[in-house]
Amino acid sequence: MIIRARRVVTMDDPPIDNGAVAVSGNRIIDVGKFDELKTRNAGEIVDLGEQAVLPGLINAHCHLDYTCLRGKIPPQKCFADWIRAINAEKAKLSPKDYVASINEGFAEAKRFGTTSVANLTAFPELIAQVSAPIRTLWFAELIDVRAPERANELIDLAIESLSETENWGLAPHALFTASKNLYRRCEEIALHENILLTTHLAESREEMEMFRDASGPLYEFLKSIGRGMDDCGSETPLEHFLRIRDSSTALRSARNDNGWLVAHLNELAESDFKLLEQSKIKFHVVHSPRSHDYFRHSRFPFERLRALGFNICLGTDSLASNENLGLFDEMRTLQRSEPGISPDKILETVTVNAALALHQENVIGRIRPGFYADLISIPCSGSGNIFDEIIAFAGPVDWMLVNGKEKRNTPEAAKLA
Ligand SMILES: [Zn+2]
Repeated sequence: MIIRARRVVTMDDPPIDNGAVAVSGNRIIDVGKFDELKTRNAGEIVDLGEQAVLPGLINAHCHLDYTCLRGKIPPQKCFADWIRAINAEKAKLSPKDYVASINEGFAEAKRFGTTSVANLTAFPELIAQVSAPIRTLWFAELIDVRAPERANELIDLAIESLSETENWGLAPHALFTASKNLYRRCEEIALHENILLTTHLAESREEMEMFRDASGPLYEFLKSIGRGMDDCGSETPLEHFLRIRDSSTALRSARNDNGWLVAHLNELAESDFKLLEQSKIKFHVVHSPRSHDYFRHSRFPFERLRALGFNICLGTDSLASNENLGLFDEMRTLQRSEPGISPDKILETVTVNAALALHQENVIGRIRPGFYADLISIPCSGSGNIFDEIIAFAGPVDWMLVNGKEKRNTPEAAKLA
């Protein structure tokens, strides 16, 4: 198949006018000027007309479990209240509701041009009931705050469900809900199985208050549910995270910080920046601009982290703190808070940067021969900066290719999805 469009944005070279992409099976085999490409490739020509073709977008952090909670939780006065509110909503949901919620989330992500997703699920046992329509990296979200003695059992059960999937990882939820044994066990498994790890870190002011000062609403809430709080009162969340990792001798010899995809990092002390500066190996960072705004967290230090060499990508987080699963919206929100970043760099956060964070940089995030045929197209005028047009795009994506299969998100098709 040869796909021809007004412009092709490869993420490698400048956008190609009157460009084309040749696809065979689930892979891209050629990309270039349409006139040249059609002389060296055979196959059906799909002419998309006045459109720009770009790599399918990659959502590096979301929780499709909670798609059904859209609009259910208004912003709360503190983070601990939000946790109480989401727990109350979750108590009303059955496994069937969660499966429906995950399916609805997949359909919506796809409608907004997402072809790959890193999805954290609290219910790995439900994965077998879901048929993902896009490339999915499943993470089991692990919480042992109410039963830390069961950490290993919890992980083993999750792996049983996850190992049926092609791509999986483990997600100790956060330092305040997952024990250090749970973190360490996940790291050991990651080393043996070569899987990815992700966690929520330094997200809220209350998390900082809890670990550094042993006070605040999150501290009080977790104390009230029986969490041992003796790890609070001296370190920032980042210091705490790094120390848990450093104290594991088994890992010190074979550590691979690049296996960690850290969500949030909104709350960093000046001393934390020093630590990050000294750290030779950099973990990946995923930022969720609209969820960040919903919670009114401290400013996300995009430029400082980038200057320190951290790879930053974007995720939508869940619809319990966001309004939809669109990554174009996330890019626009990021652009509003970081107007100095060029639009092509912003597009990188949902393509090449996200692919790198998910260790998929040789197969997704670019239009390059050998890569998976995950493509989307959006209307383009042919004049002006194509990257500005991409960031400004605010509609469902009509045409996409996922793993070489053509999908059209017309309203009729969407109803059937
Ligand atoms: Zn999250």
